[in-house]
Amino acid sequence: MLEAQRYLSRYGYLSDVERTAADEDLLTESISVGLRRFQRFARLRVTGTLTLETLKLMRQPRCPIPDFQPEELGGPGVEDSDPFVFSTNVWAERNLRWFLQTGTPDLTDEAAAVQRAFDTWAAQVPLTFTQVTSAANADFTVEWLTGDHGDGSPFDGSGSGGFNIYAHAFYPEDGRIHFDEAESWAHSHGSGNVDLESVALHEVGHALGLRHSGLSDAVMYFAINSQRRTLHEADIRGIKSRYPPVVAAPGQRAITVPVWALKNAGGSGTVQVDLGTTRRVLAWGQVTMVDSLIDADRDNAWAIEVFDVDGDRPGGFIFGGDHFGSEKAPCNVYSGAFTGRARRITFRATSIHTFDLDIFGTGTILLLDDPGGIG
Ligand SMILES: [Zn+2]
Repeated sequence: MLEAQRYLSRYGYLSDVERTAADEDLLTESISVGLRRFQRFARLRVTGTLTLETLKLMRQPRCPIPDFQPEELGGPGVEDSDPFVFSTNVWAERNLRWFLQTGTPDLTDEAAAVQRAFDTWAAQVPLTFTQVTSAANADFTVEWLTGDHGDGSPFDGSGSGGFNIYAHAFYPEDGRIHFDEAESWAHSHGSGNVDLESVALHEVGHALGLRHSGLSDAVMYFAINSQRRTLHEADIRGIKSRYPPVVAAPGQRAITVPVWALKNAGGSGTVQVDLGTTRRVLAWGQVTMVDSLIDADRDNAWAIEVFDVDGDRPGGFIFGGDHFGSEKAPCNVYSGAFTGRARRITFRATSIHTFDLDIFGTGTILLLDDPGGIG
């Protein structure tokens, strides 16, 4: 139980109050709550007890970056298991440079493996990653380090199990990506070897602003159990929501982007539109629900909302939105349109019932300040 408590506490499944409960009964209750959160996030059977499958997963090597922040506990991020809603800042610059500060003696071509990891992400979004020969010109620095290397997150040697650390990275716009030199770096995974490209792919995801996924097939899954060099639908959805493709052509006055939330990938989805400069806009969301069989659940989708405007949340963090009501009732209307000045607008689709609704819709932005559109 102590091992479980340590794990839950370290990786963000217990709030500060729960973590430090002095009373033994309270602590037992807190651990049970934490286990439920972990089990829900990891798609295990939710029991609130330390089942064998829970313990096995906790003992797998994993990324040291916590899955949740204490202030999120109890919020939709934990309850709906969609971390990408809560991903961090992004890089403003689209053409990024990386520098290999210190390589590993285990490999001669580590830079090529890191470049492949960058390129796998770049294939999905309008970003480029170029290796440069000087730290001064670099956005990212890649280093192999050992033990306590002065950034507050010491490496732990070539251990094994749930507290073994292979690598870590910092969220944007920091740019540091560190690998533990004590591991045995290789181009395949297994028998003590760690596949560099797989781990680099995951850490680059963090360095670009993605957080962990609870889906075991995702690159951004918190545990490391196999070689994984290709992105999962959830990873692609996550990175595209952070770095959307070019959405406006010259002369265009209205921008429409698809927004969706799929039940098998968590209950919500976000898409951010970056206008490149601050504009006067009207923005709103529209939703279509594909739910032909379960009429009773029609009221369990949120309308697609204007979730975030340049860091502000105009709608507040409400659990609501317009309900759909009975058949043929007007349903594609959401009162939370935004009007004002904005550069980055994030639309969000959310389902209250995570596991039985797919939601599809659009976010629309009308540019009000320039008849010529984006030029
Ligand atoms: Zn991670």
